Amino acid sequence: MAKIHRLDSRLANQIAAGEVVERPASVLKELLENALDAGARQISVDVEQGGTKLIRVRDDGSGIDQDDLPLALSRHATSKIRGLEDLEAIGTLGFRGEALAAISSVSRLSLASNSGDQAEGWQVTVEGRDMAPSVAPTAHPRGCTVTMRDLFFNTPARRRFLRTEKTEFNHLEEVFRRVALSEFQTGFRLSHNQKVIHQLPPGDDDTLRAARVARLCGRAFMDQALTVDIEHAGLRLHGWMGLPTFSRSQADLQYFYVNGRVIRDKVVSHAVRQAYADVLYHGRHPAYVLFFEVDPALVDVNVHPTKHEVRFREQRMVHDFLFRSLHRAIAEVRPGEGQHGEG
Ligand code: ADP
Ligand code: MG
Repeated sequence: MAKIHRLDSRLANQIAAGEVVERPASVLKELLENALDAGARQISVDVEQGGTKLIRVRDDGSGIDQDDLPLALSRHATSKIRGLEDLEAIGTLGFRGEALAAISSVSRLSLASNSGDQAEGWQVTVEGRDMAPSVAPTAHPRGCTVTMRDLFFNTPARRRFLRTEKTEFNHLEEVFRRVALSEFQTGFRLSHNQKVIHQLPPGDDDTLRAARVARLCGRAFMDQALTVDIEHAGLRLHGWMGLPTFSRSQADLQYFYVNGRVIRDKVVSHAVRQAYADVLYHGRHPAYVLFFEVDPALVDVNVHPTKHEVRFREQRMVHDFLFRSLHRAIAEVRPGEGQHGEG
């Protein structure tokens, strides 16, 4: 055995980056979540070459103070939690303070920002190895612009895992879709290779919400979806669920949000599957965009670095509420149901 030694911080960051940054889409997810956490009302995304060459996310959120800029890029630095008690009820999408450090260790990252109380903005740039970032003045309105170039330029082993431009862009667009469905009060724009792909105006009224879902999930889904909004004992489920006539061969149109965070969870999938069990053929999958609101203290989001998973403190209660709500909604549109085969 050789002597034990400390890894330098760049290498440590690159190793840790493996958990957070798998491909361009994971970078976009982190940048979009940061923009939403900053309270942005307009978010613009420009992408080149499937995101491998460039991902730029511009927002009009709170921005970052000049003094905080270098810290934003260092590991375990966050403005979102302070103590253990904050972990008990997380109200933001981020909280681990890892994303920007991870991204900046495997790409060329620059961050321009203005926190609103300064006349001009500030920009900080790091290029993979340089972990002592330099800050310089720049013109920038209130908000933040994060520009990531040349993903994995310094980690060839990771770069080899990237797929074609088309495949990477499909993953990016899926991330964009998930996030854009999570916050209707924020406007979103996505361009790829200078071409505008999505332009979604902000607005929380029914018409704009429905238009956004139709744009992102397809007209056919919207035309065959039920609107649900059910509240019971502090739990609320609202959104759209596809009628049995709109089933899919794959589970590719299933969006489930817990307090604004898109998640995949066994308890949820099981409850939904059961609710649709009598009305879908074997091997067919339901489509849905559903928002579940629950006391944040009843959900643990600190289960995995990508935060795609959650743990419910009251699994049984959550399962029953979801199952009953969805099952009843389906039964109500099938008036013949319940008259056959009973008694
Ligand atoms: P986390 O989101 O878990 O806090 P990040 O590495 O993603 O960790 O970001 C570090 C910090 O940088 C955040 O806590 C936040 O204070 C700041 N930050 C990042 N992106 C933005 C943004 N778009 N607008 C304002 N502040 C931001
Ligand atoms: Mg973050």
